[in-house]
Amino acid sequence: MSSYQQSIKSQNKKQILQLIIDHAPISRSAIAKQLGMAKGTVSSLSTELIGSEIIYEYGPGSSSGGRRPLMLLFNEKAGYSIGIDVGVNYIMGILTNLRGEKIAEQKQTISVHDFDYMLPLIIQSIQKLIDASPPSPYGIIGVGVGVPGIVNHQGSILFAPNLGWEQVDLQEELENAFDVPVTIENEANAGAYGEKKHNSSSHLSDNLVYVSAGIGIGAGVIINGEIYRGEKGYSGEFGHMMIDMNGRKCSCGSVGCWEMYASEKALLLEAEKVLDSAEGLSLESLIDQAEINPKVTSLFTEIGDCLGSGISSILNVFNPQKVVIGNRLALAEPLLSEPVKAAIDRHTLNFHKEQAEILFSSLTPYSTSLGASHFVTERFIATNF
Ligand SMILES: [Zn+2]
Repeated sequence: MSSYQQSIKSQNKKQILQLIIDHAPISRSAIAKQLGMAKGTVSSLSTELIGSEIIYEYGPGSSSGGRRPLMLLFNEKAGYSIGIDVGVNYIMGILTNLRGEKIAEQKQTISVHDFDYMLPLIIQSIQKLIDASPPSPYGIIGVGVGVPGIVNHQGSILFAPNLGWEQVDLQEELENAFDVPVTIENEANAGAYGEKKHNSSSHLSDNLVYVSAGIGIGAGVIINGEIYRGEKGYSGEFGHMMIDMNGRKCSCGSVGCWEMYASEKALLLEAEKVLDSAEGLSLESLIDQAEINPKVTSLFTEIGDCLGSGISSILNVFNPQKVVIGNRLALAEPLLSEPVKAAIDRHTLNFHKEQAEILFSSLTPYSTSLGASHFVTERFIATNF
């Protein structure tokens, strides 16, 4: 077979597999019809895919009403993918099948961010997820990691200000430790992808911004169905959008950054002042206290106001169909929702707010880990079949 024929064959096979992933159960003749391929081609390529155990056939065969065709299905249990969300105060890891369904999870709360301290914790978390994976033809197909920082196209973490990491090669460390492909992504990009792929209400949104509001703030921007990464992969650092030229000092070296006013970090710093104590302060404890302490309620109102004001800039610039607010602050939706919406209403251009839908993520806290795991699965499918 010539290399040209090889490449046509491989393209056809990919198309068949993708159709089965998207539309299973589906018969061979329906595939032939939809893709405009000869039945013989579909038949021989699906036999190869069945041999690779990435699809399987199922069906009653003949029935009283005549012969019913055998259906082809995607074998989502052919392998398992791992998605890790490295937060500033947590590490969240999930094991998913090839459809992105969660099989197991691992969560740790952390307070120290040195890379040398965190790396063993990340490795431990991955190992536990590997141990939890059922036997399968392809085993662990890879690990995807979302980190709160600037990641270049090669997967190196150049700068993660809230972790204090600079020039860290997490990908190489993890590939050495586990000998599987590792993908590193900015956590907000991974979160945006998680929303796009796994949130049924966002599935059809081709222009979507995911605002990851944790200790810091990042935003993943999906334009025309694709993640916008920028020239070198550095885009999405919305947390460092300046909202006050003479404002609070930020960990990035600048002042007045959005995340100094609208993040979990800002909430905790302000709460410390208002409550005169940092003891036992956490987002969760503040959510509880807000029910009884009006001072704490108004802290959330202030944070929501700043969060909404920043989102209005995103709406004015990108005109997305949808903005999804995710990560830790989404846990405070009942307290933030009103002030966020009021601020957006005040600051957004009329045309831009007409159709924009603003919602809190229903995938919280899994948006980033799901997206990271999905990147791995897509790469596995693209390179192996
Ligand atoms: Zn900054």
